[in-house]
Formats: sequence, structure tokens, C-alpha cells
Amino acid sequence: MRRFFIPPGALSDGTIRVDGDLFRHMARVLRLRVDTAVLLADGTGREFSGVIRAIDRESLVIDVTETSPEPFSGNIPRITLYQGLPKGDKLELILQKAVELGAAEIVPFLARRSVARVKGREEEKLGRWQRLAREAARQSGQRTIPTVSFSPGMPAVVQGARQSVKLMLWEKERGNRLKETLGRFSQPESIAVLVGPEGGFPDDEAETAVQGGFIPVSLGDRIVRTETAGLVMLAILQFYWGDIG
Ligand code: SAM
Repeated sequence: MRRFFIPPGALSDGTIRVDGDLFRHMARVLRLRVDTAVLLADGTGREFSGVIRAIDRESLVIDVTETSPEPFSGNIPRITLYQGLPKGDKLELILQKAVELGAAEIVPFLARRSVARVKGREEEKLGRWQRLAREAARQSGQRTIPTVSFSPGMPAVVQGARQSVKLMLWEKERGNRLKETLGRFSQPESIAVLVGPEGGFPDDEAETAVQGGFIPVSLGDRIVRTETAGLVMLAILQFYWGDIG
């Protein structure tokens, strides 16, 4: 059954009215008809089953037949990926895959060595990134839509990062081994993962992160690309503390 995201609070008296872009997608693009069964998610974790009862020129009405209970999230940590803005449209790939791997939040930020130009286009870019995250969540069958926000630089990242465990992927780190570092913590509530852009972090930018509580960790001697680093780390964290395996 097809699943669609609706805004939170859209359910009223057992029905959901759909208009705007979603209406056009359902009625014009997919040509769904009256009596079609659909699955709806409000992006906060609630899910509804329903049947299309009526369609007019600008909206359709769905009768909700079942509301699912809140999903059990256990004590799976909420992971935020802070990604130094990479070149071109690499961020789009990172966003899509990070959502598939269960990141709860993705924060692209303008690192000192980011060469991507976003000045004056932050809002436009953010809108596109949010749409991509929503689509990746829908395609990978998730009930919640990860949040995407933009940060102007490392000082703002450090100021905003309140997670219980904060890790900076730093290829120059020689002391903190990843396995031992993770072993020092019991199941955290939230984790931050910080990844540099193609050029990495200059020493003083890395030092700002360390001063802000980020623990530098290495993925070993192989230098992986920026688009690989965060995804590898998400997979490792989901295996170690999350819902993989
Ligand atoms: N400019 C750096 C160099 O040539 O040595 C490489 C930067 S790397 C392509 C981009 C980012 O990926 C780094 O800032 C870091 O966050 C992450 N990264 C890549 N390989 C890593 C490794 N072996 N350990 C930890 N982080 C790594």
C-alpha cells in the first residue's frame, strides 16, 4: 500500500483532507480513485490507514480506518550528522543515504575548507534538502521525517551541539581508536557525528570542535571521501547502539 506524509494535526473527526501538492500528486500524477486504500504518516511517528472517500477538483478526503500506536523506539540513540558542505551535489547523495541509515537530523555546515557556494541561496538550498530528506524517508518506509537545517560554520555547530556523545571524524587522530572510544559509553540518548569537507579540517577548526566537547576519532589509515565518512559512521553506530543487526 502506498504511504504518504501528511502534516501533523491533519486528522480531524476521523478524516483527513488533502490539498495542495500532495493532492495533485495523489489525484493527478498517481490518479488514485475513490475507495483506494492508503497509508499516511504525519512525520512525527504516527501512522494511519485509510480509504479515499471523495475527490473533487482541489482536494480529497480520506476516512481513517486505523491509527497505529506510537512506534517503539526503544533506547535507540538519536543521531545527528554535521556534514562540512561538500562540492557540487554530493550533499544530496549524503542526505539521501543518511536518511536511509536512520539519521534523525542532518546539519550541513559551511566548514572553512568548504568550496561550495551557498551564500544568498541558503533558503532555496535548505528547501530542496528538506524535500530530499522527506522523499528518502518515504521511500525507505520510515515514519518520521529527519530534520535538515543549515549552519554557517564550526562555532555555530559547536554552540548548537547538545548530544550526549559527540564524535569528530578526524583522519589525523592517532590516540582515540573508534572501538575503544565507543566502549567508554553506555547506550547514549543522542550522538553527534562531525565530518569535514573534501579538504578536511584545518587544525584550529578541529581544535574549536574539541574545545566544544567533540572527541576526535579516526576510521583508520585509509582516507575515505567525505561522502563515505559520515555514512560509514552511521552504519557503525546503528550496528553498535541502534537498529541494525
Ligand atoms: N584532506 C584530507 C587529506 O587529504 O588527508 C582528507 C579529508 S577527507 C577526504 C574528508 C573528511 O572525511 C575528513 O575531514 C574526515 O572528517 C573524514 N575522514 C576521511 N577519512 C577519515 C579517516 N580515516 N578517519 C577519520 N575521518 C576521516
